[in-house]
Formats: sequence, C-alpha cells, structure tokens
Amino acid sequence: MAASKGAPDLYSQFLSSAPGAFIAKQTGLPQPEKLRRYRAGEPALAGPLLIGGNGRLVEPVRALLSDYTFSQPHDDRNGGLVFDATGITQVTELEQLYEFFAPQMRKLSACARIVVLGTTPEETGSVDAHIAQRALEGFTRSVGKELQRGGTAQLVYVSPDAATGLSGLESTLRFLLSAKSAFVSGQVIRVGAADSVAPDSWDRPLEGKVAVVTGAARGIGATIAEVLARDGAHVVCADIPAAGEALSETANKVGGTALALDVTAADAAERLAAHLLERHDGADIIVHNAGITRDKLLANMDSSRWDLVMNVNLLAPQKITEYLVAKGALKKGGRVVDVSSIAGIAGNRGQTNYGTSKAGVIGLVQASAPVLAEHEITINAVAPGFIETAMTAAIPFATREAGRRMSSLLQGGQTVDVAETVAYFAGPASNAVTGQVVRVCGQSLLGA
Ligand code: NAD
Repeated sequence: MAASKGAPDLYSQFLSSAPGAFIAKQTGLPQPEKLRRYRAGEPALAGPLLIGGNGRLVEPVRALLSDYTFSQPHDDRNGGLVFDATGITQVTELEQLYEFFAPQMRKLSACARIVVLGTTPEETGSVDAHIAQRALEGFTRSVGKELQRGGTAQLVYVSPDAATGLSGLESTLRFLLSAKSAFVSGQVIRVGAADSVAPDSWDRPLEGKVAVVTGAARGIGATIAEVLARDGAHVVCADIPAAGEALSETANKVGGTALALDVTAADAAERLAAHLLERHDGADIIVHNAGITRDKLLANMDSSRWDLVMNVNLLAPQKITEYLVAKGALKKGGRVVDVSSIAGIAGNRGQTNYGTSKAGVIGLVQASAPVLAEHEITINAVAPGFIETAMTAAIPFATREAGRRMSSLLQGGQTVDVAETVAYFAGPASNAVTGQVVRVCGQSLLGA
C-alpha cells in the first residue's frame, strides 16, 4: 500500500529510538503502538479469538467465523474477544460484561479486537431490555479508552429480525475482527435484518465490480482507489482537470480509468452517468471523497468560501447520487459511500463552513438510506479524524501534534485506514448495513 504523503510523525520516530523509548518510559509520555494493518495471507487477528455470552447470536457467530482459531477462557494473549450481550434484558444482568471482560483485560495481545454484540435498543420491545442494551454503548466506548497497545472495541447492534444464519452480520464482524479496522475504535454499527451472500473470496470481494472514486488524484481518495482495486474492482478515478497528471498516475497504478471531472460543474452528473453507461453498463459503487476546506473564523468569512465548501462537500454528492440512481447508472444493489469528518460531529473553530457541510453529509446518509433501499442500494459514511495527508501536514506543528495524540490510539491514522472502512461498506455482503456513520479516528476525544 502506498505510504502516506503526510508529514513524518517525528514523535513516533523519536520513541522508536532506544533513548526515546527510555525517556518515554521514565517520564510516562504516551507511547503509540505500531498498528497491525492488513496484509494478504496473514491471519486476521494477532492471536486466537474468544467468544462468550449466551444470547441468540453466540452459536451462529461461532459457525460464521469457523475459519478463525478459537481460544479458551484460561488462554493468554487472545487476539480478539466477541461477547454476545443480546441475552441481557435487565440492568442487573450487565454484570455478565464485567465477569467476561475483566479477567481478559490484562492478557490481550497487541492490537486486540473487541466486539460486543447487542440488539438494536429501539427494537427490543421492552423498557428494561432497551435500557440494558443502550448501556452497552457506554461499556464498549469505555473499554476502547482503557485498551492499550493498539487495541480497539466496538459495539454492533443486530436487528432482532435477523435470520438465524446471521449472514448479514458477517462482513461487519470480519472487518472489525481484522487488521483492516486498525484505526476504528469506540464505534457503534447497526446491522439490519437482510440476509447476505458471502463473496467467493473475502480477499477479493469486489471482483467484477465497477467503482467510482471522486477526488482520486491524491490523499485519501488515491488510497481508496488502490484498496478497491486490490479487492477486485475496476476503478473510475475522477478529479478536477487541473489534477490531471496525478490522476493519471493513480489510474495507472490501479489499472483503472482516469476521468477529468469537477464534481461541482453543472453537467458533472450527466457526464459521469454517460461515461458509466457507455463504458461499463453502470457502476456498482460510488465513493464521494472529493472535499475541500476554506477555513476562516465566521466573522471573517466571505460568502465564496462558504459556497465553495458547501458545493463540493455536500451538494455535489447529493446531486450526483440522485442523478446516477435516476438514470440507472448506479446499479440496483449499488453502494454509496460518503466521506464526512469528525469536524461534522464535533464542530471545529475556523470551520463553520466545513463542519456544516460534513454534518450535512451525515444527514444525507441518514435521510437517503430508506429512499435508496427501494433500489437495494446502501449509503453510509466514513468520518475520518486525524489522517496523515497533505491536508493535515499543513496544520501548524502544535495543533498537529495535539490532533495526533488526543485519541485512544495516540497517533494519526493512515489513508489506508479510511480506505479499508470504505471497502467494508462497499462490499456486496454489506447489504444489511445502511445509514451508518463510522468514524475512522482512533477514538479521538474530539466529538466523542
Ligand atoms: P486532499 O486535499 O489531499 O484531496 C482531495 C482531492 O479532492 C484532491 O485530489 C482534489 O483535487 C479533489 N477535489 C477537490 N475539489 C474537487 C472537485 N470540485 N471535483 C473533483 N475533485 C475535487 O484531501 P484528503 O485529506 O485526501 O481528504 C479527502 C476527503 O477526506 C475529503 O472529503 C476531506 O474533507 C475528508 N477528510 C480528511 C481528513 C484528513 O485528516 N485528511 C479528515 C477528515 C475528513
């Protein structure tokens, strides 16, 4: 995978030197773990998987993950823990979490993965069960903050109507119980009732698919193109005409097509639809990654900064998706992935325009999910936190350092971390996942 084009993380380089490690240990400086990331052929987890709990999901999950190595409660250095909490219907029963997790916390391997499974609280049908299931969120997010050495913790709410085989849950579990979710922690994902068909290969789930990535010339977009191509897709790489050379580089690298396209142009949607229908019989996936910042305090902001940001980040993704769907250029069963930001969740000083647009992206995803479901299309968003790119390299040193360290994982993410999450949403087996927002932020304290 391409190295990040961001500024070097000098602090991590310092800590990896012998004197740096010594000083950090003596002074209690935060020591970020080198995160384990996906490599084809390597085991999904750094150690065996322990499955616990006594709800409706535990046995089907064991069957779904039969290719994982399972461990026993007394084993040390587990690489993953899955706890089925769907059997918890009373607050008093939450103690089961304590009983299962407390003895494990000190003996996990580095970069361990924890997944708590619950029932969507609003769908429990009882006040007591709703309360108990909602409480799982506080538990899981707190565990994420206590985990050390690159560990992550997530909560997955599964619809009570999910069929017995739980095929709709598999893509989510495999993503969260792997190195692909290295920089995702403290997240809550809701999985619907739909069944899914597992791909022939979980390493090439996008074989035969056509994907469009906007803003693909550089940064996060270029890596999304690489990861979707790695997973088997033909990628149409789109970016503004001025980015021509870098865009061709990405397209060549991924064996895809370059398309000069300003997403805010009046005819952008028409041109993209025509391209997709003429060359490919339509697309299966569109990733609205193109995004810009035009930062100013609100008091100093001219209207052009406001309009530009709103047009690129929010209005273009909405218009293009609507047009592609109307023309059949995004196929039935398609996937839309939008790129939001933690600034759209927490807000950010100097970014009223950007924060508004990125919060709007979350609204877009939530409002469109039921509408697009009529076409069996899903729509989800990733919300990156601090990712090492040219964008974040331009942030002044002290702010940049604070952005990197103020998270459970104590470091910035890589572009590949966002791309892996996009690929999870884009997979054909993720059809039961729609209207969701997953932060890729190392459980950043911002907006937590
Ligand atoms: P970047 O500036 O490196 O790349 C953005 C790309 O989008 C560029 O290639 C640019 O030419 C293209 N683009 C801009 N306007 C366009 C237009 N009108 N039409 C087509 N393409 C256009 O940015 P990045 O850091 O890679 O960010 C990618 C996305 O991730 C953006 O939506 C950004 O808001 C979001 N994001 C980034 C971070 C981060 O830490 N880098 C954090 C949160 C969210």
